[in-house]
Amino acid sequence: MSKTHKIAVLPGDGIGTEIVAEAVKVLQTLDLSLELEQALVGGAAFDAHGHPLPESTLKLAQQADAVLFGAVGDWKYDQLERQFRPEQAILGLRKNLGLFANFRPAICYEQLTHASSLKPELVAGLDILIIRELTGDIYFGQPRGRRTATDGHFPGAPEGFDTMRYSRPEIERIARVAFEAARKRNKRVTSVDKANVLETSQLWRDVVIEIAKDYPDVALDHMYVDNAAMQLVKEPKKFDVVVTGNLFGDILSDEAAMLTGSIGMLPSASLNSQRQGLYEPSHGSAPDIAGKGVANPLATILSAAMMLRYSLGEEAAADRIERAVQQVLSQGLRTGDIYSEGTTRVGTVQMGDAVVQALR
Ligand code: NAD
Repeated sequence: MSKTHKIAVLPGDGIGTEIVAEAVKVLQTLDLSLELEQALVGGAAFDAHGHPLPESTLKLAQQADAVLFGAVGDWKYDQLERQFRPEQAILGLRKNLGLFANFRPAICYEQLTHASSLKPELVAGLDILIIRELTGDIYFGQPRGRRTATDGHFPGAPEGFDTMRYSRPEIERIARVAFEAARKRNKRVTSVDKANVLETSQLWRDVVIEIAKDYPDVALDHMYVDNAAMQLVKEPKKFDVVVTGNLFGDILSDEAAMLTGSIGMLPSASLNSQRQGLYEPSHGSAPDIAGKGVANPLATILSAAMMLRYSLGEEAAADRIERAVQQVLSQGLRTGDIYSEGTTRVGTVQMGDAVVQALR
């Protein structure tokens, strides 16, 4: 009997519950020993327990081999104090599990090249891996807050402030992750920063150059973030692995996502040094379409495949899921976000069923 893998299933809010149900269905079709346990997170957890990341949910995640996460957030929580907002659950999970490396592949499936807003020849065959540092930078840097300005252009006016910071070890470990990943791909790393303006970025660049010496087989280049944003739409196929900080990575990975046609197609993985990971679609809870049964579950299903590959060591099962997804796309099945004339529009559940069918 194969090892039992313990998976914490956290569907969250909005379309989270709909898409995670499909990924669970797909996982349960596989001939694997999986122990799936579900818990509330985000707005749903706030409503039930008064906190977006209750102690019991965090404990479940900590004890699991991997976490399958849907999405959190809804406009109705926007007025809550920041610490109670659904999005704090993700930040809390990343911090508590030490998930410092975020993998966001942007792959343009042959069947979907026309769904991209770029010309098909620019995106056909696109396969970029964006590696975003996830536990540092301006999102976590202290001090932060609100105060009365004592200097600047408007002394005496209320102001908000945050702190961008990275330490050498934080940069070192994410750089190594990127070089290792590049070795398994096309052996190229582009490090994105803003070293012409920011001290944090200058340290980032210095450390990446230093670490690169241990990987002479991988080519390294550097790009300022504003240029990277431009190059991603101008000539996206010239990238292989992109490594960058939390803030720049947040923005660039969404931009790369759009190159592929739909954010509904893109999985992501966040790993710690023990390869324990949190797997989630790259998109949010999409309150505008929640409950309508139209959300694309493929990003979540592909996240489950990444979970099998990176945290559970079930490479063959991951390959099977990815092939099954290719197959349903080749059959012409499309949710609304990737629909085009001549294809067949299906809902969330039908798409999940089709993947299950393809697996069988
Ligand atoms: P979003 O990703 O939820 O939605 C952006 C657009 O993409 C919407 O039009 C939506 O309908 C569409 N979309 C997203 N996923 C889709 C899917 N699977 N199938 C079809 N269409 C899809 O981003 P947003 O609207 O900026 O944010 C909505 C909420 O989600 C906010 O509360 C935000 O804070 C939260 N959010 C959560 C996460 C997360 O849980 N990791 C990430 C981003 C945003």
